[in-house]
Amino acid sequence: MPELPEVETLCRQLKEKICGKKILASKVYDDKLFGIKNLKTGKINRIERQGKTIVLQLDTGDSIKIHLRMTGRLLWQESSTRPKHSRWRLSFAGGNIFLIDPRRFATVKVEKIKQEKDKKDLMAEFDEKNFIEKQARRKVNVKTLLMDQKALAGIGNIYACEILHRAGISPLRQASSLTREEWGKMFYHARNILKKGIEKRGTSISDWRDLYGRKGENQNELKAYGQEGKRCFICGGKICRIKQGGRSTFYCNDCQQ
Ligand SMILES: [Zn+2]
Repeated sequence: MPELPEVETLCRQLKEKICGKKILASKVYDDKLFGIKNLKTGKINRIERQGKTIVLQLDTGDSIKIHLRMTGRLLWQESSTRPKHSRWRLSFAGGNIFLIDPRRFATVKVEKIKQEKDKKDLMAEFDEKNFIEKQARRKVNVKTLLMDQKALAGIGNIYACEILHRAGISPLRQASSLTREEWGKMFYHARNILKKGIEKRGTSISDWRDLYGRKGENQNELKAYGQEGKRCFICGGKICRIKQGGRSTFYCNDCQQ
């Protein structure tokens, strides 16, 4: 599932490719995407990421909000020949953006433009004080909290495992048991890991591809996620795998306390 670095990668590539361009056509292939059916086309003025959502702001006052969910991706293609599993096409002079999504969970909505500051986003205007006071006290395990989109924007299973590993914090800990210093360490490592993920154009373990159909390179940087049985690069211990809330968690039992 695309997380913050993957969605940010797409937003940056979309900015280069279609910002300032006029939408010539919007063609919906999948009836499930009824939210985009009545789009009034216009020029793309601005492109931004809100958590895991891609927001295209148009000069008509509307915005198109794309959430890729499980298997969704966007592909730039000069030809308008419909690729397999595509559900929607946005056409511009010179090429098209296709939403490709085999499992059909991605959503596309049209809404009036709202200017919002993203205070839950560690890579934007994160409100640390509010997080410590409201979210960090909750009686849930810390990994669940990192992945809760109402608490923090954009972090999913892969990056949550990596962040906890680098911060040396056990995924089994209750969020409310973490000290202020531990949260500080967590945010520091989270920002570094997300930044690296963006630089490497995301993590391609299964479906993820960038706007041009290329794999990212961050899978080569993973030190915990998917590394079961390997040596921990921090302490030499062994990375193990457990199940938490139906998802796999990878961590080092020796140095993550
Ligand atoms: Zn370790």
